[in-house]
Amino acid sequence: MALIVQKFGGSSVADPESIKRVARRIIETKNAGNDVAVVVSAMGDTTDDLIDQALSIDSNPPAREMDMLMTAGERISMSLLAMAIHAAGSHAYSFTGSQAGFMTDAQFGTAHIKAVKPDRVRRALDKGSVAIVAGFQGVNEGGDATTLGRGGSDTSAVALAVALDADICEIYTDVDGVFTADPRIVPTARRIPVIDYESMLEMSSCGSKVLALRCVEYAQRFGMPLHVRSSFSHRRGTLIVPEIARHRRQSQENQDFTNKGKNMSENNNQSMGDLFPDLGPEVPIISGVAHDSTESLATVRRVPNEPGMAAKVFTMLAEAGVNVDMIVQASASTGTADISFTVPGTAAAKVQEVLQEKQGELGFQSFDVDPNVGKVAVVGVGMKTHSGLAAKFFNALSDK
Ligand code: ASP
Ligand code: MG
Repeated sequence: MALIVQKFGGSSVADPESIKRVARRIIETKNAGNDVAVVVSAMGDTTDDLIDQALSIDSNPPAREMDMLMTAGERISMSLLAMAIHAAGSHAYSFTGSQAGFMTDAQFGTAHIKAVKPDRVRRALDKGSVAIVAGFQGVNEGGDATTLGRGGSDTSAVALAVALDADICEIYTDVDGVFTADPRIVPTARRIPVIDYESMLEMSSCGSKVLALRCVEYAQRFGMPLHVRSSFSHRRGTLIVPEIARHRRQSQENQDFTNKGKNMSENNNQSMGDLFPDLGPEVPIISGVAHDSTESLATVRRVPNEPGMAAKVFTMLAEAGVNVDMIVQASASTGTADISFTVPGTAAAKVQEVLQEKQGELGFQSFDVDPNVGKVAVVGVGMKTHSGLAAKFFNALSDK
C-alpha cells in the first residue's frame, strides 16, 4: 500500500461537475489500495476574482486582510470536494492550512513554510478516510492566516507529501505534463517523460508555467518524486526525479512503452524511437526550451567603474523590493561600466522610479528600461561540458 498525495489545480476543480470527476478519481486511487491525501487550489478564477473584489474596495488593502480573503478560495473547493467524495459513497475530511499544520513566517502574500505538522491529516488517513487540505495557505506564529504566493498550492502539496513521508506527489493539471517547449507556440513540442530536478528548476525559473519554482525546490531538497499529469485523462505525465533515477527510469520506460506497443503510441501520438534515441550516458541532453515574454530589460549606462558600484545599484533595487533576474556588466575603456539586468515586467515602473531618484547619488550617466524583450532558455544537464550547443542555439535563432 502506498501513500499518495494528489494535488488538483484550479482548472481541475473549476465547477461542480469537475469536482465530482476529481472525487471519482481520488476514490479510484483509494480503492486501488492506497492512502490518499489531497491538496486543492481554489475553483477556476476564484483567486483572481477575490483580488478584483478587494481592489474595487481598497486600492491598497491591508496585507493581513488580503490573506484572510484569499485563503477563503481554497476553503470552498476543499469542502465541496469532501462533499463530492461523501456523495460518491466514500469518506473525506477537509482541513484548512492551519488545521493541517502548515506553520509559516509572517510575510503575508509571500509566506514561507517553517514547518508542517499534519497530525490531523494523519489521523484522518489512519481512520481510512481521504484527507483534503486547502493549498496555498498556512498560519503564522500569531495565529493569522497567511498565503504562500500565487501558484502556492503546488508547494503545499510537496510540503505535505514530505511531512507525511508519502511515496509520490502527483500534480494534476490541465496539460499532459511538462513539454519540451510551450505546445501553443511550438506544435512539435513533445511531452518529457522523465526529467531531473535541476533541469525542471531551470525550466520553471526560465518561464515554464507548469510547476511553481518553489515547489520544485522543495521537492529537490527532500528528494520527493513528482508526477505532473492531466486530471482529464489517465495518461502518464512527466516524472520529476533525481538525475540518476532519471537515467534508469528512462530506459525502463522505454521498455515499458515498447512492450505496451500500440496502446501507448496511440495515446502519445509519436514514435517511441523519436522519444528515446539510443543515447550513451555522456551525450549532452537538452530537456527543453523555456521562454518568458513578461520581463523587462533595464540598462544603467556609464556607472563609475569602481568596486562596490554594482552592489549599490542592486541594494537600492532590493530595498525597493525589486526581484532581479539576469545581470550583465560590461566595462568600457572610459573607466565606466554599463550594467544591464532583467526584472519582471510588473516591476519596470518601480525600477524606473528608483533609478531616477538615485541617479545623482550613484553618478551614472543615463538609464533606460525596455519592456520589449523576451528570454529564451535551453535547459539540460551536460551542456557545461559539451561544446557546440551555443552555436546550434544561435544558428536556430538566426534562421528564424
Ligand atoms: N489559488 C492560488 C492561486 O491562484 C494558489 C494556487 O492555485 O496554487 O494562485
Ligand atoms: Mg498552478
